[in-house]
Amino acid sequence: ADRARIAMWTGPGQTSDGHPIAILANVQDGAGARAARSTPAEGVGLFRTELCFLDRDTEPTVDEQIDIYSAVFEAYQGRKVVLRTLDAGSDKPLRFADHPDEHNPALGVRGIRIAAAAPGILERQLDAVAAAAERTGARPWVMAPMIATVAEAAAFAEQVRSRNLVPGVMIEVPSAALLADRVLTHVDFLSIGTNDLAQYTMAADRMSPALASLTDAWQPAVLALVARTAEAGSVAGKPVGVCGEAAADPLLACVLVGMGVSSLSCAASAVASVGARLSAVTAAQCQDAAQAVLSTDDPPAARAAASRILG
Ligand code: PEP
Ligand code: MG
Repeated sequence: ADRARIAMWTGPGQTSDGHPIAILANVQDGAGARAARSTPAEGVGLFRTELCFLDRDTEPTVDEQIDIYSAVFEAYQGRKVVLRTLDAGSDKPLRFADHPDEHNPALGVRGIRIAAAAPGILERQLDAVAAAAERTGARPWVMAPMIATVAEAAAFAEQVRSRNLVPGVMIEVPSAALLADRVLTHVDFLSIGTNDLAQYTMAADRMSPALASLTDAWQPAVLALVARTAEAGSVAGKPVGVCGEAAADPLLACVLVGMGVSSLSCAASAVASVGARLSAVTAAQCQDAAQAVLSTDDPPAARAAASRILG
């Protein structure tokens, strides 16, 4: 019955009582975006630009970047596309970004921190994004990874706005989740990256299978930070999405909606199962489940609490 419901689901994303939630796809290039068009994904919630350049020894030129970004904008013409600036470093080193040798790259110069360490890369990327937007008539939302301070968010927002693009930041470092209300005074939207948020909240390497139960997005401490971030968005009247793996878990996706997130972005292959699950529950059930998980002590209890309410 579940499989039939998933196959039948064609969007748009909403709860059974009609509360709209955009269900978007995570992509890494134009081909991926075109493939996502054959799913009910309403747009792109996370375009991981660094994945376009993992094999490069030298920085792609602005013209090359314009072509690559335009391909994604064209695939979702007139729809929402959220582009993430280069999240280089740690598990995704870019040879041209001059990463220093570090004892602990996950805590090192990665994501937005490259902007200070290797000046010019971010500016050229934003120039390319603005030119691709102009060429395709797109109005992309542009967000930075690994924001840890309000000042980083403010500086990034200024650079994005000066190019007439819509600025946001990822919330994947606990410090940014704790100060989400202040971050939101500078940017137009937030997107929660639950993969890194779990890693940094639990002090557990996301790449370590031995620690998988710690980096589980159902950890109540991680969910408490998600709830706090979503609440800050509701208060500010600004959209907060989730683009980490948590959004691909249909049960957890309903819990996130109950916390107040306005969009979910996941692998294109998971879009239909998330959308179908959400279409079977009410917004009130999602809110009850969100409340319930926050008073549990561990992931199994959180899952059980959500299941009891969401069926
Ligand atoms: C995340 O950290 O949850 C995220 C979406 O970014 P990435 O997985 O690319 O680090
Ligand atoms: Mg991340």
